[in-house]
Order: sequence, then structure tokens, then C-alpha cells
Amino acid sequence: MLEIKNLHARIAEDGTEIIRGLNLTVKAGEVAAVMGPNGSGKSTLSYILAGRQDYEVTEGDILYNGESILELDPAERASKGIFLAFQYPLEIPGVATMQFLKVAMNEQRKARGEAELTTPDFIRRVKEAAEKLKIDQAMLRRPLNVGFSGGEKKRAEILQMALLEPKLCILDETDSGLDIDALKIVADGVNALKSPDRATIVITHYQRLLDYIVPDTVHVLYKGQIIRSGDKALALELEENGYADIIGEAA
Ligand code: ADP
Ligand code: MG
Ligand code: MG
Repeated sequence: MLEIKNLHARIAEDGTEIIRGLNLTVKAGEVAAVMGPNGSGKSTLSYILAGRQDYEVTEGDILYNGESILELDPAERASKGIFLAFQYPLEIPGVATMQFLKVAMNEQRKARGEAELTTPDFIRRVKEAAEKLKIDQAMLRRPLNVGFSGGEKKRAEILQMALLEPKLCILDETDSGLDIDALKIVADGVNALKSPDRATIVITHYQRLLDYIVPDTVHVLYKGQIIRSGDKALALELEENGYADIIGEAA
């Protein structure tokens, strides 16, 4: 589904190279964890996948279902099913969460050339997804993210993900860390959305998220490169020994 080949990318503003020859393949159905010390380029990688304009790819390619996405803008990538969960969720005063979801879903349908959802169809879908994620209806009537607790923001984000039915989900968990309830919400959401035609990249500094999401593959990102790949055992090894050994071997 995703093939990143010898990717080099830099910050557009000052030319600093952050991604330095990164290779990564993620298959449909797979949950891939990308781990690495702070400052490795994990968040940068997620922004580049989403198509943010403040980074420039200077070499290599990103293939999504066999086609390069480098020339696509963020909206085009989203319409093809690439979803980046926000690290810092936007607060949208005055717009009920429900209304926001309707606009987001219909925008995406428009981009895919599909008809707008009827109101009953929309409500049915939201109710189903909300129930699955244990989100109560009252939350859906509140303005998106305004005054939401950390856990509620995570639920809202996972709900967006569930409703937009992405094919490639990228979740970047901040280094600041989530409390255990928020971690479980994210994990339950990812696990509930697991399907043979969907892939998820879970970016995390900590192994603890992986106590709840069992990844199929684990990749260590360091200084803009994947320096080691393995299965879940690699995450456990990292928890035990830290990154130093693997970094040393790669050097
Ligand atoms: P991680 O998510 O692994 O902690 P980041 O991708 O946030 O790493 O950052 C990688 C490196 O790139 C860091 O040294 C960071 O300071 C730098 N960096 C990323 N984006 C920018 C930017 N827009 N401007 C300046 N420096 C940046
Ligand atoms: Mg960081
Ligand atoms: Mg980061």
C-alpha cells in the first residue's frame, strides 16, 4: 500500500535536511509502528506523508498503491484515503462536532465524486461509529474540541478517522505523552478499525501504546532513516534496553 523509497526531505524555509534516505514499506492490513528518539524526524515524516507544504522532497519517492503521491496536495491525498490524525486538535468554536463531521464527510465524498449523504444516512453512520467508540451523543452536540478533555479530543479524532474510512491512517502521538485512558481510546480505535484493506502507521516515542495496539511490524527511525525493522519483539527490546544499542549497531 505504501512504499517510501530513499526519501530525502528538508524544511522548505531553511533547507535543513530532516529525512535522509528513508525506506519503509507498509502492506494493506498491516499495523506498523514507527518508533525513535525525540528529534528523529517522526513527526516530519507524518507531515510529509500528509503533503504539508513546509517540507520539500529532494530525492526518492512515496508510492501509494503503486503511484507517486509527491505531486498531490493534502486534500487530494485525503480524498485518496490518507488520514493524518492531528497531534494538536483544532478547536472550532460555534461549530457542533456533528456539523463538523458532516462537512468533513461530504467534502471527502465530493472529492471522490460521490453524492452527499442524506441526513438520516449521516446520522445513522455517526451513531454507529460513536457507539462503537463509546462516545456519548452529548459530546457530538458540543463545539469540536472546545473544552474537551484530552480523552474526549482523542475520541473525537478517532471518530473522524472511523467516519472518513481512510485506507492509510497515520497517528502521531506526541512526545508529551497521553494518559492511560487516552492511550486506551486510541488503541481501541485503531484495533476496531483494523481491516484487510486498511493500513495504520502508529508513530510513538513510547512502547506503552504498543501494550494496547499490537503492531505487525516495528521500525526504528533515527536521524531521518529507518535503522532497524522487526516485529513486536523489537518494541519490547527497545523498552528493555532503550535506543542506544540499536543506534550503536547502525553507526
Ligand atoms: P520527532 O517527531 O521524531 O521528535 P521531528 O520530526 O519533530 O522529530 O523533528 C525532527 C528534527 O527536525 C528536529 O531536530 C526538529 O527540530 C527539526 N524540525 C522539524 N520541523 C521543523 C521546522 N518546520 N522548522 C525547524 N526545524 C524543524
Ligand atoms: Mg519530537
Ligand atoms: Mg514528533
